[in-house]
Amino acid sequence: PGMRAPVSRVAGAQMVAADIAVGVKRNPNMAKLQAGYLFPEIGRRRNAYLAAHPDSRPIISLGIGDTTQPIPTHILGGLEGSAKRLGTKEGYSGYGAEQGVGDLRAKIASKLYNGLIEPEEVFVSDGSKCDIGRLQLMFGNAVVSAVQDPSYPVYVDSAVMMGQTRPVDSATPQGQHPGIVYMACNPSNNFFPDLSNTPRADVIYFCSPNNPTGATASREQLTQLVQWAKKNGSIIVFDAAYAPFIKSAGTPKSIYEIPGAKEVAIEVNSFSKYAGFTGVRLGWTIVPSALKFADGTPVRNDWNRVMCTIFNGASNIVQGGGLACLDDEGLEEISTLIDYYLDNAKLLRETMEALGFTVHGGADAPYIFVDLKGKSSWDMFSHILETAQVVTIPGAGFGPGGEGFLRLSAFAPRAACVEACERLTAMFKQ
Ligand code: PLP
Repeated sequence: PGMRAPVSRVAGAQMVAADIAVGVKRNPNMAKLQAGYLFPEIGRRRNAYLAAHPDSRPIISLGIGDTTQPIPTHILGGLEGSAKRLGTKEGYSGYGAEQGVGDLRAKIASKLYNGLIEPEEVFVSDGSKCDIGRLQLMFGNAVVSAVQDPSYPVYVDSAVMMGQTRPVDSATPQGQHPGIVYMACNPSNNFFPDLSNTPRADVIYFCSPNNPTGATASREQLTQLVQWAKKNGSIIVFDAAYAPFIKSAGTPKSIYEIPGAKEVAIEVNSFSKYAGFTGVRLGWTIVPSALKFADGTPVRNDWNRVMCTIFNGASNIVQGGGLACLDDEGLEEISTLIDYYLDNAKLLRETMEALGFTVHGGADAPYIFVDLKGKSSWDMFSHILETAQVVTIPGAGFGPGGEGFLRLSAFAPRAACVEACERLTAMFKQ
C-alpha cells in the first residue's frame, strides 16, 4: 500500500490488474456506494440469463422505463430542421447559450408553466438526471438530503458520491445510508410521508408522479410539503419528469401550482418521457429568482455559475426538437404518445389485479407498483425472468421501502405489453 507499482508505457498482454494501479487514492465516497447503479445491474442479470439459456424465447422488457415509440413527425421535423440549419452560413451556431436558447426558455415558461415562471428562471439542459448530479455539486457535501423511500436511485447515489453521507456501519438499517433522511412512502400512508414525524433536511427530493410507485401527490399534500419546507427553511427539488402522465383534473403537474413554492422549490423536468427524448437528451430545471440561500444569495446565481462552468449548453440540434415539442402540433403528438403508454399501464394494472395482486400506480403514471404479499422483490424479479422471460424491476432497487414490491413499466410496444401480460397470466394462474 502506498507504493506505486511500476508502470510500463505499453500495456503488454502479460500485464495483470495489480500492475496498473496508480498512486491516486480512490474517492472514499465512491466506495460507500453499496452496489452498481440499478439499471445496468438489471441489464447484467438479463444478459446472464440469456447467456445461460441461449435458446430462450425473446425476453420482453417492462424494465428500465425507457421509451420505445418513434419520435412523431412534427417533433422530428424540428430536429431535422435544426440539424439542416447548421449546414448553412446564416443558420450555423456554435457554443451557448449555457442556459439554453432564449426562444426555448420563453416557450417552456409560457406553454408548460402558463406564465407562472419567467424565462430567465428556466435553464435548459441535457436531461434531468444530469441536472440532479449538477445540483448536488451546487449544494455540496454539508447538506442533509431527504428522499421518498422508495425513490429514483439518482438522488441518494449522487448525495453519497458528493460526500453527504457517512460509511455504512453495523447500526445502519438495511439498505440505507447514514445521513440521508428516508421518508417512508407506502400504502399505509397513501405514499405520502408523515411530515410531522420526519426530521428536518436541507434538500428534499420529491417526485410526483413517482418513480417507482406511480403515486401522485394531491394539491393538499404538496401544499403541506411546501409549508413544511418553509417552516424548516429547506429547499424542495421537485422532480416532474412524469408530469404529462397526469390526466386527473386537479392533480398538480408542477410544484409552482402551490402558492409560495417559488420561495422554496427548484423543479427538474425533461423531454425524455414527454416526447421519447431519452436518447436525444433534453431537459430543464427551474430555479426561481425568489429562492435564496441562508446568506441571501439567489440560488439562481449559483446554479447559473455551475451551468456556465461545467455545462456548455444543450445541443443546438436538440433544442430545435424541444421548440417543435411545444408547438401546438408537437403538444398534440406528445399527448398521443402519453395516451399510448397510459393504455399499456391500464392493461398491466388490470392484468395484475385479475391475478389477485394489489397494485398501485398505473393511472396518471407509467409505472405499476405490484404488492408481492411479503415476497422478496429480487427473488420475484428472478422468478419472473426465468419463468416468463419478462424483465421487471425489484422494488428494493429503489430503496429499502421498495422491498416487497415489483415495478412494471408501461414503456413498451403494445404487442410486447400484451404478450408480457399473457406470459404473466400463464405463470401466475398455474
Ligand atoms: N427523474 C426521474 C424520476 C426519472 O425516472 C428519470 C428517468 O427515468 C429521470 C429523472 C431522468 O430523466 P432524463 O432522461 O431527463 O435524464
